[in-house]
Amino acid sequence: MNEMRLKFLSRSENEVFARNAVAAFVLPLNPTLDELSDVKTAVSEAVTNSIVHGYRGTEGWIELTCRSDERSLHIEISDSGKGIEDVGKALEPFFTTLEDEERSGMGFTIMQTFMDDFSVSSVSGKGTKVTMRKDFASGASNAG
Ligand code: ATP
Ligand code: MG
Repeated sequence: MNEMRLKFLSRSENEVFARNAVAAFVLPLNPTLDELSDVKTAVSEAVTNSIVHGYRGTEGWIELTCRSDERSLHIEISDSGKGIEDVGKALEPFFTTLEDEERSGMGFTIMQTFMDDFSVSSVSGKGTKVTMRKDFASGASNAG
């Protein structure tokens, strides 16, 4: 069991910082390259959402918590941005509120597909929290 917490500003360069921090944290679980890539992509999508939708170019805090056990990584990514009015709709593939900015509306779908568990809770005007879990075929106990 291990845990880490990060708090960083909603600047676009912190998307790379966040996904690499999570990748480094998860290495003791012996991820395959595919598993590592899935986790990095999901973190990227969630952090990008907080930056572009949650804060819409303004500066605010994004909080990232990672917990690991023998075989799984549990991730929480939250912002105190504008929140989501209709979460059910937001989860639909190709739904986006930023069509004019080349968003495809696939971020949540990607997170759901690449991770083993996924949920999002949001309060309009208050913020959004994404919770995800990834299970690893090898795991910490089988370290070679
Ligand atoms: P893509 O991820 O493909 O670039 P997208 O970001 O619009 O496009 P999703 O990531 O699936 O697609 O998000 C769907 C919609 O949910 C967004 O368009 C936005 O309206 C809303 N949303 C997602 N995350 C947040 C957030 N952190 N704060 C506020 N709104 C959000
Ligand atoms: Mg997105």
